[in-house]
Amino acid sequence: PFTQEKTALPPLPILRGKGPYLYDEQGKAHLDLISSWWVNLHGHSHPEIGDAIAQQAAQLEHVIFAGFTHEPAVALCEGLSALLPPPLGRFFFSDNGSTAVEVALKMAYQYWQNQKEAARTQFLSFEGGYHGDTFGAMAVGARSGFHNTFEPLLFPVHTVPYPATWEGDAQVLEKEQACLQSLETVLQIHGSHIAALILEPLIQGASGMRACRPEFLDQVIQRVRAWDILVIFDEVMTGFGRTGTPFALSQVQAVPDFLCLSKGLSGGFLPLALTVTAAHIYEAFLDEGAEKAFLHGHSYTANPLACAAGLASLNILLRPATQEAIQAINQTHRDALKALQEQLPSLLRPRVVGTIGAFDVPGLGSQNTFFRKKAWEAGLLLRPLQDTLYLLPPYVLSPHDLHTAYGKIAQLLGPFLEKHEGR
Ligand code: PMP
Repeated sequence: PFTQEKTALPPLPILRGKGPYLYDEQGKAHLDLISSWWVNLHGHSHPEIGDAIAQQAAQLEHVIFAGFTHEPAVALCEGLSALLPPPLGRFFFSDNGSTAVEVALKMAYQYWQNQKEAARTQFLSFEGGYHGDTFGAMAVGARSGFHNTFEPLLFPVHTVPYPATWEGDAQVLEKEQACLQSLETVLQIHGSHIAALILEPLIQGASGMRACRPEFLDQVIQRVRAWDILVIFDEVMTGFGRTGTPFALSQVQAVPDFLCLSKGLSGGFLPLALTVTAAHIYEAFLDEGAEKAFLHGHSYTANPLACAAGLASLNILLRPATQEAIQAINQTHRDALKALQEQLPSLLRPRVVGTIGAFDVPGLGSQNTFFRKKAWEAGLLLRPLQDTLYLLPPYVLSPHDLHTAYGKIAQLLGPFLEKHEGR
């Protein structure tokens, strides 16, 4: 995935994983600082999740979900319901983040069609958003980089600027005002034709861990709600504790109409996704005939093994020890980033959102493959996003080991920065 096969280094064989570490064929340990593409929450091969999957496999591995249901799916939805604010209480299963987004987009669109508001066909998103690689998800994502080739096939979407901010950003309020003004302009012209706004709450992942303040999101939502526009929170990355609370939505006042979940939903063990919505949206699809129904589905919908993993993972997430670990990672990022910037003053825009720490390294984008290789040799799994280096570890990583990792990163970056500055 996401690889130019001609120039890429050969893939690295991994034999096993334990806690925050991955072990290669030589037995060397590598610290997984990106939670294996942001999916792993509680460490690799967590025995409780593994056991839950094994027990479920012995009982029922899968059953068609159209017209059937099963205990792991029900229990997982009930567990999530207890954590989510009302009216978010209706669940649609799929199996990856992109499909969770596709489902939300299709539901939002069809909701208005079912309501006989046929003119509400458009979508609104933020510059720099990333929502996946299927066509709808590409359309609402940033129109640069990854998806250029497909541009002619993507439906048009209104985008507004995003106030990417960082620790100590003196311009944040001005940037937010400018973004809100752009939003207002779009709304004045197109507001009554827009079905939904989609956004990654608190932090945009793939475009470089770009943070925004919850207060900004509150203002955005207030403005779009004035035009009856539905709100989709894509929490595929931010869900399950990544931003310091179970979901990023806990940090904003408004409740979205749709919530997209995947990645950490199964603790990083199996592909699983959910699109969560509210009763009033659900009810708009009810009718005697099939026309208003949501005619969408995937073969592995609500796979029982993945649901069992999700339930086990949720139990671990809610334990006080895990919540304390999440707060400890947050504090360690703050302390370590401060020290790192004192040591390497050319690092820019430090930001910490929950368990995610990030900063920009001028020139890193052009040296990504080289840097990744060096990090791997030093026992760190890192995968910069252009100039942005981020650390998004599993919650089992101890503050001590995270500090040590920052120390190693300082060593890795030192000569690299000198080289860049000397050019
Ligand atoms: N939304 C967000 C916010 C994501 O970060 C991602 C994946 N990085 C996706 C959607 C797509 O998820 P998937 O890769 O599982 O299709």
